[in-house]
This record gives sequence, C-alpha cells and structure tokens, in this order.
Amino acid sequence: MSRPRTPLVAGNWKMHKGPAEARAFAEELLRQVRNDKGEMTKAGGVEVAVFPPFTALPAVAEVLKGTALSYGGQNCHWESKGAFTGEVAPGFLAELGCRYVLVGHSERRFLFGETDETCRKKLRAAVAADIEPVLCCGETLAEREAGRTFEVIERQLRAALAAPPPPASFTIAYEPVWAIGTGRTASPGQAGEAHRFIREWLSRNLSPEAGERTRLLYGGSVKPDNFGELLKQPDVDGALVGGASLDIASFCGIASSATSYLTGLI
Ligand code: PEP
Repeated sequence: MSRPRTPLVAGNWKMHKGPAEARAFAEELLRQVRNDKGEMTKAGGVEVAVFPPFTALPAVAEVLKGTALSYGGQNCHWESKGAFTGEVAPGFLAELGCRYVLVGHSERRFLFGETDETCRKKLRAAVAADIEPVLCCGETLAEREAGRTFEVIERQLRAALAAPPPPASFTIAYEPVWAIGTGRTASPGQAGEAHRFIREWLSRNLSPEAGERTRLLYGGSVKPDNFGELLKQPDVDGALVGGASLDIASFCGIASSATSYLTGLI
C-alpha cells in the first residue's frame, strides 16, 4: 500500500526512563527493528522516533545517532540562550542530533501553563535551529461535547502557524485530550475527520504543498491492536504514542502493525 508520506511512529516517554534504562531500551529497539545488515525489517517503510526526558537524550543519542531511528526533545525554550533557569534551548537539542521536538503537548499546556503564543515562539525557534517541531493540538472532552472540536484545533493551528513566514517543515500531532493516557481512543472515523480538517486547513491557509507534505500523527491511547485501523485513514500518517511506547514489545508492535498495513497484510 503506497502512501504519499512516510508513516512516523513516535514514542513520547514523558517523565519515564533515566539514562541507563533509556540506553538499554534504545539498544533493544535497534536490535528489534533491524536485521544483521542494518535494514529495517520489523518497521520497514516506517520511521521510528523516541522522545526521552532531557537527561536521557545523550545516552539515546550515543546509541541511535547515524541509524535509521530518530529521537527528539519533549520540549524546548524559544530563546537560544539566557537567564532561563531550568529551560533548554533548541540549539542544545540540535547539538545532540535531535531531529524533532514536541511543541505544545497537552500536558505542557494544561499542567505547565503553555499558551498558543508560547507554542508559536517555540515552533519558530525549533525551525530556526534546524529541528522539526511536532506541534500537538486537540480538544478536551468538554470542548468536543460542546461541538467545538474544529474551532479549538483551528485556533491552535492559526496561533502557531499562520504568522508569516510559514515554517518550512513541521509535523502535527492531533491528540484529543480525552484520549491521552485514558485508554479511550478516538474511533478511526473521529481521527480521520479531524486529520482531514487539519490537512484542508493547511492547504487553504499555508499552501497546497504544506497540506500535501505535512505528516499528521494521531495520539491518544494508541496500542498495537488499534493502530492498523487508524492508519487506514488516508490522512493519518502515524502515531504519537505515550504509555505503549514505554514497553519494547508494544512499541515495536505498533511499528510493525504499520509495516503490515503498508505491505498489505492488514
Ligand atoms: C501522549 O502522551 O502523547 C499520548 C498520546 O499518551 P498515551 O498514548 O498514553 O495516550
């Protein structure tokens, strides 16, 4: 099954795994997805990335740098340096070889007061440091029940992306807040509808090329047994996985269900 965009399966480890555990996981992940010749067998045709805590990034980078697997930061500041105690500049992530950084994860928005405006600044700063931002968006349960899903997504996209010049390259993760860590997944129809809305918004408000090339990930209780159905939606280009990315078998299971889909096995 050929797809216009390479699917991405990304694991957000949140505040789990210190350096030693993260290194061991990265080594095992490499071992599981590649064969002896270094070819991606279990995850053929799929890009796999992990987002460890900051302190584990150097260990993960030592293992994954130069391989087909990618890694990124869970957050960054928008300035390149300065008196910002506890913050990490996008350039520091670039120096470790990070390909991605998450921007505006709902836990950052709701637990740490991130706003649409700070997301806009972080996204721009990441692009300037040559790191691809993964912008997270999505509605709460109350917003969905009030029929405001598209209004909320549109507000988050507009705030982060609409100011000129349009950022060159980014990924979007649609993560309905009611599905994160709850075991409640959006149905393939709900995910497909939201992703279609996002792609059309990008085409109309940035450019048809941005609509066509931007990868849209679904996030919210993705597991090996529900990911295949989600990926059948034409505008779902992969997953941002929280809980199930902490376990090697379930994370590899999600990557290999994407490969099974691509090779027509499901
Ligand atoms: C997430 O944290 O981005 C996430 C989707 O978590 P979970 O898969 O556990 O719902």
